[in-house]
Amino acid sequence: MRALTVEPGKKETLAITDVADPKSEHPDALLVKTLAIGLCGTDREIIEGGHGSPPAGDRNLVLGHESLGEVLKAPSGSSFKPGDLVAGIVRRPDPLPCQSCAAGEWDMCQNGEFTERGIKGAHGFASERFTLRERFAVAVPKELRETGVLLEPASIVAKAWEQIDRIVSHMPYRPRRALVTGAGPIGLLAALMGVQRHYDVSVLDHARNDNKLRLVQELGGHYLLAMQQMSGAPEIVVECTGAAQVVIDVCRASSRNGIVCLTGIAGGHGSAKFSAASFNNDLVLENDIVFGTVNANRRHYQAGLEALQRAPKGFLESMLTRRLPVERFAEAFEKKPGDIKTTLEWT
Ligand code: BGC
Repeated sequence: MRALTVEPGKKETLAITDVADPKSEHPDALLVKTLAIGLCGTDREIIEGGHGSPPAGDRNLVLGHESLGEVLKAPSGSSFKPGDLVAGIVRRPDPLPCQSCAAGEWDMCQNGEFTERGIKGAHGFASERFTLRERFAVAVPKELRETGVLLEPASIVAKAWEQIDRIVSHMPYRPRRALVTGAGPIGLLAALMGVQRHYDVSVLDHARNDNKLRLVQELGGHYLLAMQQMSGAPEIVVECTGAAQVVIDVCRASSRNGIVCLTGIAGGHGSAKFSAASFNNDLVLENDIVFGTVNANRRHYQAGLEALQRAPKGFLESMLTRRLPVERFAEAFEKKPGDIKTTLEWT
């Protein structure tokens, strides 16, 4: 069958190649027909040779960690049946496993021995068919057939908000002003989930984009092109750019008792003027909390799914700005004005 593969560590190796049909790695595995794969910055890093590793013994890695598929075959006794929609969870617990992985919180793996489909040591979902153990399969309702490919990024954002909620739950007052930096897919989903929590949400973008402006306004949020346009210091920040200067700026701009959640990866690019001493004083004297977050466990996929289901009508569809057949994979990775989320579709 055809798969979109890359040789990790080497540039310009992205290609459609013929790979063996997926073998079920477990008796409870579903066989899934791929419908769509979402592309993100991590995929870009992998194809540029800066990230990713193939499964042990393989040279190539099948790309794709944001998935939506349709069940072709389900073992007897499964809660899935042919025709059901499904998305695959990305991370697999380490084989030992550590206490976090043993508790199903593989997103918090303690030893780094986890694998991630389409990223680290395990093939992804960008092939005509893939297998998926039921434990790592999330049922997607039929009404999300067009947009369910956003579930994986939504799971990442749901985890970020869960962490923020936990911190807020210890506070004697309820923060109100939230700032999201970056109006890409993660930023827009972060804004969606912030509004769903009744925060007054502002989204900072680096250049005006009318589609993004409309999406933010549809949520009831404020679309900003400069942090100074925000009325009052942000009490909560979800930083989604990974850009060094933005990271420093939001840490400094946050209010007293500010919570800054970092979700982006700079990929080795970007630099910032930075004084560790004043950064330290700023954090200490204002009780600020700055934390990073990566990946998601099953609970976050479920929370992400609920958030997608409650999104305003048409919001998710407008985020999927380019849907290309898999054959046009090279074009899919070119940056185009107006892009939010690009997907590759299998027909
Ligand atoms: C994925 C996560 C993954 C992370 C690091 C992100 O793009 O969404 O699932 O843990 O990359 O590999």
